[in-house]
Amino acid sequence: MRTVTIVGTSLAGLRAAQELRAQGFDGELVLVGDEPHRPYDRPPLSKDFLLGKIGVEDLELADAAGLLELGARWHLGRRAVRLSASDGSLTLSDGTELKSDGVVIATGASARTLGDGLAGVHTLRTLDDAVALRREIADGGVRVVVIGAGFIGAETASTCRALGCDVTVVEAAPVPLSRALGPEFGAACAGLHEENGVRLVTGIGVAALEGDTRVTGVRLADGTVLGADVVVAGIGVRPNTEWLDGSGLVIDNGVVCDEGCVTASPNIVAVGDVARFRHEGAHVRTEHWTSAAEQAGVAVRNLLAGATVAHHANRGYFWSEQYGHRIQFAGQAAAEAEVVEGSLAERKFVATYLRDGAVTGVLAMDSPKPFTRLRRGLARAATVPAG
Ligand SMILES: Cc1cc2nc3c(=O)[nH]c(=O)nc-3n(C[C@H](O)[C@H](O)[C@H](O)COP(=O)(O)OP(=O)(O)OC[C@H]3O[C@@H](n4cnc5c(N)ncnc54)[C@H](O)[C@@H]3O)c2cc1C
Repeated sequence: MRTVTIVGTSLAGLRAAQELRAQGFDGELVLVGDEPHRPYDRPPLSKDFLLGKIGVEDLELADAAGLLELGARWHLGRRAVRLSASDGSLTLSDGTELKSDGVVIATGASARTLGDGLAGVHTLRTLDDAVALRREIADGGVRVVVIGAGFIGAETASTCRALGCDVTVVEAAPVPLSRALGPEFGAACAGLHEENGVRLVTGIGVAALEGDTRVTGVRLADGTVLGADVVVAGIGVRPNTEWLDGSGLVIDNGVVCDEGCVTASPNIVAVGDVARFRHEGAHVRTEHWTSAAEQAGVAVRNLLAGATVAHHANRGYFWSEQYGHRIQFAGQAAAEAEVVEGSLAERKFVATYLRDGAVTGVLAMDSPKPFTRLRRGLARAATVPAG
């Protein structure tokens, strides 16, 4: 393999580039990213960066020397608009044509939007999103309505509150986070909102955003209008696959690939939030930092081997920080769950999820040591041999 092109220059794309060099690839390496920025880290965008505790320079995933060491050709601020899986040819938004022996798809996901360009309505996925939102909330004192009480919505609400904003969170489901954590533990996490002076409205959808050029309120399905100076839509993401239409790859809520992140073409792999990989008999897409980072090593190994020789061990790990509490999760939630240390009332606990008596998942709030201990029971090596 003489040329590898990586599309997407965020966490998964950068890790793939680093892995290619670490695993001995000494050919031509090309990186294409539609954002103008050097690779940066997203988790702080809703936490310390939005809070103003850290700056842009603290978000770098690699410093200038580290990027230079990769010996890569970078096309930043340019979007890949077409890929042909049959011959590895790529077209960029400025008309550049690239030909590669291997392609790594790392185009992640984009936030779902609301409001059709109404001023004051935000999403939080990119550095530019975070800068724009921070500009409006930095001085506090504004009314913020967060739509969606998932992890991004909850973290944004927490940060807006810490900055002195008046915050309301609206969630269509009766219990926030119940799909990820189950109803009991979803409710425990959601309880943090009201304990910290944030109103939580659940079980009702949003009918419309009000305002002519700038948002003035959020109208709920029952006609109630919540006054708002700023609205943040935390309503999920969609994988960035439009550019792959007609590529010959299988696209279905992500780039469909096998257990080793290899697509139907052995010279094309997919990593990170865009990859829908095979896991325990189904195809799953994860939207977590650790999965994106870990998939890169496995995918590159398979790309260089020209076949699936390693599988991604999906450990389902993620963390979140809300109202000064650290939430950690690993594995899979199940209907049966119990607190094994601490208590929900203290907001300091470790819980395990069980199926047929076996522990399938671990959840912790402010209990990193017992979490790590219990998680070990679930952990497998990040790379397991195929077959
Ligand atoms: C605000 C926020 C907070 C988060 N907090 C946590 C957390 O606490 N814990 C956790 O586990 N995870 C967290 N995550 C999730 C984590 O950041 C993601 O899982 C991770 O960023 C995925 O990396 P990725 O490289 O796959 O995709 P992305 O980070 O989405 O990067 C994809 C890149 O590809 C670019 N791109 C897209 N299409 C094209 C194209 N056609 N051509 C060229 N480039 C393209 C995109 O612009 C982007 O730069 C958070 C995410 C956000 C947004």
